[in-house]
Amino acid sequence: MTYEQLLDEAYKKVKKVDVASGRFEIPKVEGHFEGKKTILTNFFQIVSHIRRNPEHFQKFMLRELAASGHKDGDRLVLNIKVPSAKINQKIEQYVKEFVLCKECGKPDTELKKQDRLTFIHCLACGAKHSVRGKI
Ligand SMILES: [Zn+2]
Repeated sequence: MTYEQLLDEAYKKVKKVDVASGRFEIPKVEGHFEGKKTILTNFFQIVSHIRRNPEHFQKFMLRELAASGHKDGDRLVLNIKVPSAKINQKIEQYVKEFVLCKECGKPDTELKKQDRLTFIHCLACGAKHSVRGKI
């Protein structure tokens, strides 16, 4: 098996969300390689699950992965090959920074802009935390 095939296998073996634990589970990315590209097939499903702005999420991911890419229907196409583990790690980072309430840890939040500040407003406990406005 080649390295590339191994990576493809890794994508298929990605663990599914464990709902029973009751904790907020961060969705895992699904995708495959096409030539030198990485096609993420559930990228925009993940965005709707974490209820954030798709452009914001996409911008963050491309910057963090040092990749360029574009939206293709429901898919995100990256111009380089990126192992799923790395993408999942960045999604986790995004969720921790821009989705989860730092006070109560719940994901029931909204991202708001006020004046020049961006902050997370928690709908569960009412807490507000500023986050970096530029990504
Ligand atoms: Zn909260």
